[in-house]
Amino acid sequence: MPPIPGSGLAKGLAVTLRTMTRKTVTEQYPDAQPELPPRTRGVIGLFEENCTVCMLCARECPDWCIYIDSHKETVPAANPGGRERSRNVLDRFAIDFSLCMYCGICIEVCPFDALFWSPEFEYAETDIRDLTHERDKLREWMWTVPAPPALDAAAEEPKEIAAARKTAEKLAAAQAEPQQEES
Ligand code: SF4
Ligand code: SF4
Repeated sequence: MPPIPGSGLAKGLAVTLRTMTRKTVTEQYPDAQPELPPRTRGVIGLFEENCTVCMLCARECPDWCIYIDSHKETVPAANPGGRERSRNVLDRFAIDFSLCMYCGICIEVCPFDALFWSPEFEYAETDIRDLTHERDKLREWMWTVPAPPALDAAAEEPKEIAAARKTAEKLAAAQAEPQQEES
């Protein structure tokens, strides 16, 4: 059957009218900041106190854009007659965000919770070299990392918290002992 003359125009007008009455979805950025979901991948923050320089993140990064330098330091024995230990000391930790593809592998593989996603995304630069963020800048991003979601009320206590509580109780008991002896 041949199309009714003008039906195409009527259809087009119907679409226009429908769209005109819908709520607009245009984000007025940068005048209005977007409401980002909590797990947004904006930039990576480094909590360097947790980093043991194990190099896992740098090795697993598909883009090879994590640069780590370190040196070894000897730690004296904890007890007399004990053995000295050596530990890695971080000299440089940098991420080149001009290469990073925001896959999150580095954060997933870090065994010591030293890397975190921050939703901050406004760090465009006019010089590409400035997109390599050194450890101080990566630390600054840490203050923009949102707090983790609360645990499920029925969830088992994480073993890290249980271990920390045990250590704190032991320390408190050790501190209380001399006070009891004095009194
Ligand atoms: S998010 Fe992916 S590409 Fe970016 S630094 Fe981490 S592992 Fe490398
Ligand atoms: S994987 Fe974690 S602990 Fe290991 S070097 Fe990377 S940030 Fe540091």
